[in-house]
Amino acid sequence: MSDVFETKARFNPKRDFSFEHLPHSNVPFEEAFKKARDGERLSVDDGVALMIVSDDPDRKAKVLELANQRRKVMVGEEVTFVACMNLNLTTACTVGCLFCSYKDSAHLFQVNSTEKHDGFTRTVEETTQLAQAGAERGIYEICSVSGLHPALVLNEKHRKILEKNPVNYKPAKEFHKDPGTYVDQIKALKVGGVHIHSMTPEEAYHGKRGTDWSYREVYETLKEAGLNSVPGTAAEILVDEVRDVICPGKINTAEWIQGMEGAAEADLPMTATIMYGHVDNARHRVMHMDVIRNLQDRSHNINEFVPLKFVHPNTPLFQLGMVDGSSTSSEDELMIAVSRLFLDNIKNIQVSWVKYGDTLGKHLLNCGGNDFMGTLLNEEITQRAGGGYGSFRSFENYYDMITSIGRIPVERSTDYKLKRVVKAQPNQPIGPTLGPYADGTPLLNEEETNALRSL
Ligand code: SF4
Repeated sequence: MSDVFETKARFNPKRDFSFEHLPHSNVPFEEAFKKARDGERLSVDDGVALMIVSDDPDRKAKVLELANQRRKVMVGEEVTFVACMNLNLTTACTVGCLFCSYKDSAHLFQVNSTEKHDGFTRTVEETTQLAQAGAERGIYEICSVSGLHPALVLNEKHRKILEKNPVNYKPAKEFHKDPGTYVDQIKALKVGGVHIHSMTPEEAYHGKRGTDWSYREVYETLKEAGLNSVPGTAAEILVDEVRDVICPGKINTAEWIQGMEGAAEADLPMTATIMYGHVDNARHRVMHMDVIRNLQDRSHNINEFVPLKFVHPNTPLFQLGMVDGSSTSSEDELMIAVSRLFLDNIKNIQVSWVKYGDTLGKHLLNCGGNDFMGTLLNEEITQRAGGGYGSFRSFENYYDMITSIGRIPVERSTDYKLKRVVKAQPNQPIGPTLGPYADGTPLLNEEETNALRSL
């Protein structure tokens, strides 16, 4: 008889989502564990068998230890991080994802609206100024992910098409601020040699709405404007029965894959993410990783996998009573560990301090993780969802955290091609060195450093 385990559902039991895919496996744990230990490629059932042991301390410890060993073999003792800033263009969005509290309904930004909101749209000129200021501090990556503003278009050609056939489009003159075009915004972000990490498949879909353009054409246009790599966000859970609950207005799984394939065809490096811990279960998480692993088999362009714990307090999902919270730390440990074991073709597993905090984050680096995200400087998305782990990190802070767990702190470029071991010298400040303006000067001034210490 097979060894069947189940995880607890976290969503409100009063809501029955009637999922077809349930959190149990017909593969016995020992069989799945042996395959993982022998380095064999895991099936979805194997992955589920390893993922559903959060209430079994012995089995969980075995999975975490194996993932930690696999991490040592695949990437060694280095923990990497990047000097980056987040610079998003707008919170205005016409899609109402139930896990999102970043967006503000786009109609609030219209000139005829008198309703108050605390969102923003940045003009091309404002983006230029903020990007310049960030680059001069020493960052070398700008990550930009934005709401789907109805006036945002790919370029002037796209605007002309949408003026004749408005698909989710309103002219910029109807809004207090003009967000310009994606192409102009990418050019504005591109200060010196800063790496631009932007345009999720969802944004690319917005940038081609109302046309028959391929994703490849859209990404090639953006690459020409200065785009360097693509965040594989907007992925959430790549199983449509989950997307239908949490983000019914977003592109579906097949469309998301097409978008990523278009980015790969344009030869842009990519990341991949999962946003878990809401209505999803362990099988959904492993099915999602199966989509990512297959995509990587075809594209070879994914540099890192980023598990993102759902941050619930200000989200409609939580406020409407559809979920009672987020994942347990036991599930978080297994999410990182099974990512390491299942994704045999992706070298880097990121631990997001924004989602997990420092204490759990450091622990997760010993459950299979090897990258610790970046300095961010201006994190906005998780803060608006009710996250409590701050919005920036310094190099000094990274150095202390990583050496405290006996690992080697290493600053890296976005694509992991450039790396430098960060060393502390007596009375010498610690700062980034890999960017156009990065000369080792700390990213934060004294006041910001003190604010960070008091978190
Ligand atoms: S997740 Fe993105 S697309 Fe969905 S509501 Fe938020 S900003 Fe809009």
